[in-house]
Amino acid sequence: MKVTFEQSDALIIVDVQNDFCPGGKLALDEGDEVVPIINAMTAQAQEAGIPVFVSRDWHPCHHVSFDERGGPWPEHCVQDTKGAEFHPDLSVPDGARLISKGARFDIDQYSAFDKTGLVSELVHLDVKRVWVVGLALEVCVRATALDAVKNDYETILVEDGTRFIDRADADKTRQELKEAGVTVK
Ligand SMILES: [Zn+2]
Repeated sequence: MKVTFEQSDALIIVDVQNDFCPGGKLALDEGDEVVPIINAMTAQAQEAGIPVFVSRDWHPCHHVSFDERGGPWPEHCVQDTKGAEFHPDLSVPDGARLISKGARFDIDQYSAFDKTGLVSELVHLDVKRVWVVGLALEVCVRATALDAVKNDYETILVEDGTRFIDRADADKTRQELKEAGVTVK
Protein backbone atom coordinates (compact mmCIF):
# COMPACT_ATOMS: atom_id res chain seq x y z
CA MET A 1 0.00 0.00 0.00
CA LYS A 2 1.27 3.40 -0.98
CA VAL A 3 1.48 5.72 2.01
CA THR A 4 2.02 9.41 1.56
CA PHE A 5 2.92 11.10 4.80
CA GLU A 6 2.55 14.81 5.28
CA GLN A 7 4.46 16.97 7.72
CA SER A 8 1.58 17.19 10.20
CA ASP A 9 1.09 13.41 10.36
CA ALA A 10 1.97 10.88 13.04
CA LEU A 11 2.15 7.10 12.93
CA ILE A 12 0.63 5.16 15.85
CA ILE A 13 1.62 1.50 16.12
CA VAL A 14 -0.61 -0.38 18.56
CA ASP A 15 0.53 -3.38 20.64
CA VAL A 16 2.65 -5.45 18.23
CA GLN A 17 3.77 -7.69 21.10
CA ASN A 18 4.74 -11.35 21.35
CA ASP A 19 1.61 -12.36 23.25
CA PHE A 20 -0.55 -11.20 20.32
CA CYS A 21 1.53 -13.13 17.78
CA PRO A 22 1.61 -16.89 17.05
CA GLY A 23 2.94 -18.72 20.13
CA GLY A 24 1.76 -15.96 22.48
CA LYS A 25 -0.81 -16.12 25.24
CA LEU A 26 -3.50 -14.22 23.36
CA ALA A 27 -2.27 -15.02 19.88
CA LEU A 28 -3.78 -13.79 16.65
CA ASP A 29 -3.26 -16.42 13.92
CA GLU A 30 -1.54 -13.97 11.61
CA GLY A 31 -0.48 -11.35 14.13
CA ASP A 32 3.15 -11.45 13.05
CA GLU A 33 2.24 -10.77 9.42
CA VAL A 34 1.77 -7.08 10.19
CA VAL A 35 5.43 -6.67 11.15
CA PRO A 36 7.01 -6.18 7.69
CA ILE A 37 4.11 -3.97 6.61
CA ILE A 38 4.44 -1.77 9.68
CA ASN A 39 8.23 -1.70 9.39
CA ALA A 40 7.92 -0.35 5.86
CA MET A 41 5.57 2.39 7.10
CA THR A 42 7.92 3.21 9.96
CA ALA A 43 10.82 3.56 7.52
CA GLN A 44 8.75 5.95 5.43
CA ALA A 45 7.72 7.88 8.55
CA GLN A 46 11.37 8.21 9.53
CA GLU A 47 12.23 9.42 6.07
CA ALA A 48 9.41 11.97 6.20
CA GLY A 49 10.52 13.06 9.65
CA ILE A 50 7.12 12.48 11.27
CA PRO A 51 6.70 11.23 14.84
CA VAL A 52 6.21 7.52 15.55
CA PHE A 53 4.26 6.38 18.61
CA VAL A 54 4.48 2.77 19.72
CA SER A 55 2.00 1.49 22.30
CA ARG A 56 2.25 -1.62 24.40
CA ASP A 57 -0.19 -3.47 26.61
CA TRP A 58 1.70 -3.47 29.92
CA HIS A 59 -0.23 -5.25 32.64
CA PRO A 60 0.69 -5.84 36.25
CA CYS A 61 0.44 -9.54 37.17
CA HIS A 62 -3.10 -10.61 38.17
CA HIS A 63 -4.50 -7.65 36.24
CA VAL A 64 -8.19 -6.87 36.50
CA SER A 65 -8.62 -7.60 32.75
CA PHE A 66 -7.56 -11.26 33.17
CA ASP A 67 -10.10 -14.08 33.44
CA GLU A 68 -8.75 -15.03 36.88
CA ARG A 69 -10.19 -11.69 38.04
CA GLY A 70 -13.42 -12.01 36.08
CA GLY A 71 -12.05 -10.02 33.14
CA PRO A 72 -12.56 -10.89 29.46
CA TRP A 73 -9.02 -12.02 28.59
CA PRO A 74 -6.57 -14.77 29.45
CA GLU A 75 -3.40 -13.56 31.12
CA HIS A 76 -1.27 -11.63 28.58
CA CYS A 77 1.38 -8.92 28.27
CA VAL A 78 2.49 -9.06 31.90
CA GLN A 79 5.12 -6.39 32.55
CA ASP A 80 8.73 -7.44 31.94
CA THR A 81 7.81 -10.84 30.49
CA LYS A 82 8.79 -12.12 27.04
CA GLY A 83 5.14 -11.97 26.02
CA ALA A 84 4.99 -8.24 26.68
CA GLU A 85 8.03 -7.51 24.53
CA PHE A 86 7.53 -6.13 21.05
CA HIS A 87 7.74 -8.73 18.30
CA PRO A 88 11.49 -9.23 17.81
CA ASP A 89 11.36 -8.10 14.19
CA LEU A 90 9.34 -4.95 14.86
CA SER A 91 11.40 -1.91 14.09
CA VAL A 92 11.14 0.59 16.93
CA PRO A 93 13.25 3.54 15.83
CA ASP A 94 15.31 5.75 18.10
CA GLY A 95 13.12 8.64 19.10
CA ALA A 96 9.90 6.62 18.89
CA ARG A 97 7.54 7.61 21.69
CA LEU A 98 6.53 4.68 23.83
CA ILE A 99 3.01 4.47 25.28
CA SER A 100 2.43 1.93 28.07
CA LYS A 101 -1.22 1.19 28.78
CA GLY A 102 -3.17 -1.24 30.92
CA ALA A 103 -0.63 -0.64 33.68
CA ARG A 104 -3.18 0.57 36.22
CA PHE A 105 -4.50 -1.88 38.78
CA ASP A 106 -8.10 -0.74 38.59
CA ILE A 107 -8.90 -0.36 34.87
CA ASP A 108 -7.94 -1.60 31.43
CA GLN A 109 -7.02 0.80 28.63
CA TYR A 110 -7.66 -0.40 25.09
CA SER A 111 -7.00 2.94 23.42
CA ALA A 112 -3.56 4.50 23.15
CA PHE A 113 -5.38 7.77 23.93
CA ASP A 114 -7.02 6.56 27.16
CA LYS A 115 -5.45 8.52 30.05
CA THR A 116 -2.02 8.29 28.45
CA GLY A 117 -1.49 11.97 27.67
CA LEU A 118 -1.19 11.21 23.96
CA VAL A 119 -3.33 14.17 22.90
CA SER A 120 -1.06 16.65 24.67
CA GLU A 121 1.96 15.21 22.87
CA LEU A 122 0.18 15.37 19.49
CA VAL A 123 -0.74 19.00 20.20
CA HIS A 124 2.84 19.74 21.18
CA LEU A 125 4.05 18.23 17.89
CA ASP A 126 1.37 20.04 15.89
CA VAL A 127 -0.01 16.77 14.52
CA LYS A 128 -3.24 17.03 12.53
CA ARG A 129 -3.60 13.56 11.07
CA VAL A 130 -2.78 10.11 12.44
CA TRP A 131 -2.18 6.74 10.79
CA VAL A 132 -3.11 3.76 12.95
CA VAL A 133 -1.91 0.16 12.60
CA GLY A 134 -1.27 -2.80 14.92
CA LEU A 135 -3.09 -5.42 17.00
CA ALA A 136 -5.83 -6.31 17.47
CA LEU A 137 -8.09 -4.59 14.98
CA GLU A 138 -11.42 -5.01 16.78
CA VAL A 139 -10.01 -4.21 20.24
CA CYS A 140 -7.12 -1.80 20.83
CA VAL A 141 -6.70 -0.59 17.23
CA ARG A 142 -10.45 0.07 17.01
CA ALA A 143 -10.47 1.95 20.33
CA THR A 144 -7.42 4.00 19.35
CA ALA A 145 -8.85 4.99 15.96
CA LEU A 146 -12.23 5.92 17.48
CA ASP A 147 -10.53 8.08 20.12
CA ALA A 148 -8.41 9.75 17.47
CA VAL A 149 -11.49 10.95 15.57
CA LYS A 150 -13.18 11.93 18.84
CA ASN A 151 -10.20 14.18 19.46
CA ASP A 152 -10.66 15.71 16.00
CA TYR A 153 -7.72 14.05 14.28
CA GLU A 154 -8.12 13.03 10.70
CA THR A 155 -7.59 9.29 11.11
CA ILE A 156 -6.45 6.67 8.63
CA LEU A 157 -6.46 3.01 9.57
CA VAL A 158 -4.35 0.87 7.26
CA GLU A 159 -6.05 -2.51 7.40
CA ASP A 160 -3.08 -4.34 5.90
CA GLY A 161 -1.11 -3.37 8.98
CA THR A 162 -3.69 -4.84 11.38
CA ARG A 163 -5.28 -8.22 12.11
CA PHE A 164 -8.52 -9.33 13.74
CA ILE A 165 -8.74 -11.73 16.67
CA ASP A 166 -11.98 -12.97 15.14
CA ARG A 167 -12.72 -12.24 11.51
CA ALA A 168 -16.42 -12.65 12.27
CA ASP A 169 -16.20 -9.11 13.68
CA ALA A 170 -14.68 -7.70 10.49
CA ASP A 171 -17.68 -6.18 8.73
CA LYS A 172 -19.19 -4.76 11.90
CA THR A 173 -15.90 -3.19 12.97
CA ARG A 174 -15.15 -1.71 9.55
CA GLN A 175 -18.62 -0.21 9.36
CA GLU A 176 -18.42 1.25 12.85
CA LEU A 177 -15.04 2.83 12.11
CA LYS A 178 -16.21 4.31 8.82
CA GLU A 179 -19.39 5.69 10.37
CA ALA A 180 -17.30 7.34 13.09
CA GLY A 181 -15.23 9.08 10.42
CA VAL A 182 -12.16 6.84 10.27
CA THR A 183 -10.74 6.30 6.79
CA VAL A 184 -10.12 2.57 6.41
CA LYS A 185 -7.60 1.81 3.68
ZN1 LIG B 1 -4.48 -6.31 27.71
